[in-house]
Amino acid sequence: MPLDQFRLDRKTALITGGNRGIGLAIARLFGEAGARCLLTSRSETPELTALLEEHPDRYRWVQEDVTDPEAGARLVAATLDAFGTLDVLVNNAGVAANGNFHEFDDAQLDYIMGTNLIAPFRIARAAVAQMLKQGGGTVVNVGSISGYVANKPQLQVAYNASKAAIHQMTKTMAFEYAGRGIRVNAIAPGYVVSDMTKGGIANAEWNRIWTENTPMGRFAEPEEMANCALFLASPASSYVTGEILVADGGYTTH
Ligand code: NDP
Repeated sequence: MPLDQFRLDRKTALITGGNRGIGLAIARLFGEAGARCLLTSRSETPELTALLEEHPDRYRWVQEDVTDPEAGARLVAATLDAFGTLDVLVNNAGVAANGNFHEFDDAQLDYIMGTNLIAPFRIARAAVAQMLKQGGGTVVNVGSISGYVANKPQLQVAYNASKAAIHQMTKTMAFEYAGRGIRVNAIAPGYVVSDMTKGGIANAEWNRIWTENTPMGRFAEPEEMANCALFLASPASSYVTGEILVADGGYTTH
């Protein structure tokens, strides 16, 4: 059935940052689509606890700091332990920090690049090695419109550079593995309601600027990003690889 192509029955997914925000929405939707999901984050949230209790067969959670160099290997092993295979990786965990370029210190730079670029690189490396053994899989990286434009009014040079790098990592991985059954794509969200943006949304001036620059005139809900991730993770996108799916309410049209 054509609509079954959007399902993930008998598939397993590793989703980083699955305890809140966009990652939690992806976890919920993938579970509804039939996948069994290994979720990871540093902390457990009440929403995550409820999800684990409601669907113990569908979800497992392991506490992990994705910046640990061994995190990728441990997460792949945990997914195999729980479900036997690893079919889908969603590299979603990420952090943001604002500041002027000329004052952006090394600790902040390491924190942003370590979480948003080095960690997804290492985790994807471990996941792809497993997918090659299995004969295929899909990777969905979470980029950002910040990989294309300078945000305003907030300055966030390291974040923007990390997301541009994720987009290019996506394209290059897609090129390398296209002939071996592994598709690699990314989503590039605009402003989404989450813990990451709640400070800006609560700031009247930032809220006005963000809204005015989004032609749809509103922020996205995490579930709208989950829909994009499901398309890219599922057979519905079987001929799509190396794509950065921008979902931004029109932000980057002008
Ligand atoms: P949240 O701040 O709500 O979620 C961030 C997630 O990343 C949490 O699950 C957090 O869990 C996890 N995380 C952060 N650091 C680590 C770490 N070192 N180890 C393990 N997990 C970690 O933000 P969003 O849901 O909005 O962000 C999700 C992704 O979407 C990010 O990559 C972000 O850059 C991207 N994005 C978001 C946009 C937005 O407008 N919200 C726009 C464009 C892209 P914990 O803290 O418990 O470890």
